[in-house]
Amino acid sequence: MEELRRSTVRDLELYYNPKVKAIRMDTSVNVVGPNPAVKKVLEECMDMEVNQYPSPYSDDLRKALAERYNLEADNFVVGNGSDELLDVSFKSFLESGDVVVAPHPSYVLHSFFVKINGGCFETVDLLPGFQLDVDGMLEKKSKMIILCTPNNPTSNCFKRADVKRLIEEYDRPIIVDEAYTEYTSEEYLSYVNEFDNLIVTRTFSKAYGLAGMRIGYLAANKKLATMMQKVKIPYSLNKISEAVAIAALQNTEYLEKGQKIVKEQREKLSNGLRELGFEVFPSDGNFIMFRVKVPSDEFVSRLAAKGILIRDFGKRRMLENCVRTTIGTEELNELLLSKIKEVNEEW
Ligand SMILES: *Cc1c(COP(=O)(O)O)cnc(C)c1O
Repeated sequence: MEELRRSTVRDLELYYNPKVKAIRMDTSVNVVGPNPAVKKVLEECMDMEVNQYPSPYSDDLRKALAERYNLEADNFVVGNGSDELLDVSFKSFLESGDVVVAPHPSYVLHSFFVKINGGCFETVDLLPGFQLDVDGMLEKKSKMIILCTPNNPTSNCFKRADVKRLIEEYDRPIIVDEAYTEYTSEEYLSYVNEFDNLIVTRTFSKAYGLAGMRIGYLAANKKLATMMQKVKIPYSLNKISEAVAIAALQNTEYLEKGQKIVKEQREKLSNGLRELGFEVFPSDGNFIMFRVKVPSDEFVSRLAAKGILIRDFGKRRMLENCVRTTIGTEELNELLLSKIKEVNEEW
């Protein structure tokens, strides 16, 4: 059967799925803990009519998003994590063999969604400082462009002028993945009506602390959004997740708490890591990438043995011996630094 597989999926591997029992600082989720919106909604959900289907396009959540961002419900497509919206975007445009261009290094799942939709994934290396090579990206013949800012795993925002130039000069769909936008002042969502090609994706998995509920959305001008709405699998977001997302949008206290921790701890943790002798890269997100002086896979497994899991990127080109950690609470960061110190001393 192997030879019958679609050619673009033949080199795929199973996704990152660590089996160690440890404090998870490897997935950049919210360290405040579960969003209280879940508890509130679950209590109210006891009598929910789950024998009925949810709204096929999550109309209530799209309305809530429209109010929150001063757009219209039809500017939004809502789905099962922003990963579904990335998938829907590629499903909507790619023919077999079409090229999607992305910067390297960036989010691993972007290439996955391109390949499972029959596309070819091509990258253009980031310039020093992990900034976009706009000319390099425009020069490639492609059907779509995708990038995320702040970039994962490097954690920096791309220069505004560069992202704007790409959106303006590229005459095909361009996806800006804003999974970590809530930790920065940078955003492109409010510009979706000004461009015919701009697709912005966002998630409730990070700053809203709801990764386990799988809720995400995209925003685009109404014509573009409606085109993609027709491609999305109806009912893909369940009723409970939709209600939780609406409650989470209404209660900003949790969101702000997480933003405050990141703001306060980003500099502190960066300095702490620098003092331990690592090359630490500037962060605009809720995670920090740094380079260790020893093989990073071994570094990560020794740290995991001490009870803290961070993520290894050391095998990726341009990220030799780089690792990424979530920015934790003050206590968590102190624990992380002390365990790293132990690893250093025992090397
Ligand atoms: C975490 C992350 C997502 C989130 O995906 P969900 O499916 O919404 O959980 C999307 N893009 C990037 C770059 C991420 O890091």
